[in-house]
Amino acid sequence: MKTIKEAARETRVAREADVVVVGGGPGGIGAAVSAARNGADTVLIERYGYLGGMGTGGLVTIIPLLTDVHGKQQIIGLTQEWIDRLEVRDAVDYPKKEHWGSDDKEIVRYYFDRSFFMTRLDRVIYAAIIDAEISKVILNDMVEEAGVKTYLHSWGTEPIMEGNECKGVIFESKSGRQAVLGKVVIDATGDGDLLPYAGIEFEDNIPPNFRIANLALIFWVDGVDLKKAMDFRMNNPKEFMELNRKAMEAGGQGGFMPSNLPNQDAVVWFHNRFPNKSQVDVEELTRVEFEGRKKMIKTYEFFKENMPGFEKSFIVLSGPQLGTRSSRRLIGEYRLTKEDMANNEPFEDTIAIFPDLDRGQESLDHPLMYIPYRCLLPKNVDNLLVACRAFSSDEHVQEWFNLIPHCIAFGEAAGTASALALQAGVNPKNVDIKALQKQLARQGVPLPEIKAAV
Ligand SMILES: Cc1cc2nc3c(=O)[nH]c(=O)nc-3n(C[C@H](O)[C@H](O)[C@H](O)COP(=O)(O)OP(=O)(O)OC[C@H]3O[C@@H](n4cnc5c(N)ncnc54)[C@H](O)[C@@H]3O)c2cc1C
Repeated sequence: MKTIKEAARETRVAREADVVVVGGGPGGIGAAVSAARNGADTVLIERYGYLGGMGTGGLVTIIPLLTDVHGKQQIIGLTQEWIDRLEVRDAVDYPKKEHWGSDDKEIVRYYFDRSFFMTRLDRVIYAAIIDAEISKVILNDMVEEAGVKTYLHSWGTEPIMEGNECKGVIFESKSGRQAVLGKVVIDATGDGDLLPYAGIEFEDNIPPNFRIANLALIFWVDGVDLKKAMDFRMNNPKEFMELNRKAMEAGGQGGFMPSNLPNQDAVVWFHNRFPNKSQVDVEELTRVEFEGRKKMIKTYEFFKENMPGFEKSFIVLSGPQLGTRSSRRLIGEYRLTKEDMANNEPFEDTIAIFPDLDRGQESLDHPLMYIPYRCLLPKNVDNLLVACRAFSSDEHVQEWFNLIPHCIAFGEAAGTASALALQAGVNPKNVDIKALQKQLARQGVPLPEIKAAV
């Protein structure tokens, strides 16, 4: 491979902070808000002009799997705060609390028709459909109120390393190349962008038949007569299937999902999937942006012409941000594997519990997934944590447990741990786990046998 040598240069230090978080998606929001609320001077660096990552810019507007099969809420904390703040603005929809866990066939059917995500294992599950635009405002409020110094339009490009210690991050923007020095750095880029440059071990194997092997360009079609479309779909299932087949034959995408908010019921979304070799290869990303839009046009034109209810429809939005599901994964102090999904015992350093609802009988046998703090910690580098879908896990755990509420939980744990470690004058690897768990419990994170100290 041909290379060039870059000249050494002086780089301006834009700021010195306690905690520097790179990436303002679900993981980064969780990390930055938690670090700042726990007293750390915190900087957040985000490459785009808004926060929320896939949850806003990727048009992935569903926060699912918050209750277990019995209807008990297992994920609360900052995820619930995001939902509560949306509720104040009438910008979220979820099943009524009294229905969580219900196996009443009619009630389950009602929510299934509302959104596939509101049911699992023939029960009603607490999943929230969120407004992407209002979420952007709310997430800005959350970081601002917490006192986080945020740099938007800024790419975190390189960790600043001294031996095996991370001392900050280089970031690039319209203002040029600058540095932020930090006592702790949190990689919340989703893709573990800092790992290769920090000399941290990672893996990126994904079997091609896995959900996470697909890039996606989601798009929304507005002006749909949803009742007419759904009546056709319900009363003519064979014809509907045939239409979908023909849409794909014409180079488009089959199926649409009516999962937007009740006041957006003329909008449906299509999920344009692209199997790929790498979700961090710029040539692949470019290919999918081009192919995704070609496929979008073919899909839209086919549905407008052939599907009842789409006669006056129009494309209102395609994902401002390409949907990436998984790429680099840390090989950390603990690597969660398939075997852990069959384990019903919490870890001593459990920092989150996730309902397991997507795996049929296996989910019924193992209804909860416990997450240890160690899966956020690299083995050979100090002062750097991972708080996003790049957490330390094999491809099986990654397939099921890298969703929005999961990543917020990684962030809450990493941000809180960083602030506590700095207060105690220790490396985040040596944070007092009991103190961390107590503080997370105070912040509304359900943990095994941990009672919040009042
Ligand atoms: C099509 C699709 C459908 C999905 N469906 C669901 C669903 O229904 N429900 C659900 O909960 N999850 C779903 N997911 C998964 C979920 O969206 C992600 O796993 C989750 O958003 C991961 O959060 P994260 O914080 O790790 O990463 P991201 O959401 O990707 O956020 C990373 C953030 O970091 C920023 N960033 C990245 N690199 C840099 C850099 N170098 N410098 C500065 N900033 C950077 C990004 O712009 C982004 O804001 C879906 C994903 C896709 C793609």
